[in-house]
Amino acid sequence: MSIAINQNKCVGCTMCTCVCPGTLLEMNDQNKAYIQYPKDCWGCASCVKECKFGAISLYLGADIGGRGSHLSTTSNGDLVTWSIANPYGKSKEIVIDRKESNRY
Ligand code: SF4
Ligand code: SF4
Repeated sequence: MSIAINQNKCVGCTMCTCVCPGTLLEMNDQNKAYIQYPKDCWGCASCVKECKFGAISLYLGADIGGRGSHLSTTSNGDLVTWSIANPYGKSKEIVIDRKESNRY
């Protein structure tokens, strides 16, 4: 399992680099995030959750039933939208209010 970073969406906020427990994410000279050691990523999704701009997506492999879908998030205030897009063009969105996240 690993992540992909869309550098066109990355605004260089550096939040993902702060939350990765494996210190796998760095900024390049264009101030865009990249993953240094993709093989070491264990798919915790912390960086995906932290990126407010939908620039990071987590690959959901067939081994967990994801069939090649990608998971990404955007946020607006306390509302976090989790988007799951599959390779066939279908997508699903789940909106979670951070203030009520302990209910889920
Ligand atoms: S959190 Fe998102 S926008 Fe910010 S540096 Fe990382 S990838 Fe770029
Ligand atoms: S999914 Fe977790 S381990 Fe992988 S790069 Fe993101 S924060 Fe690091």
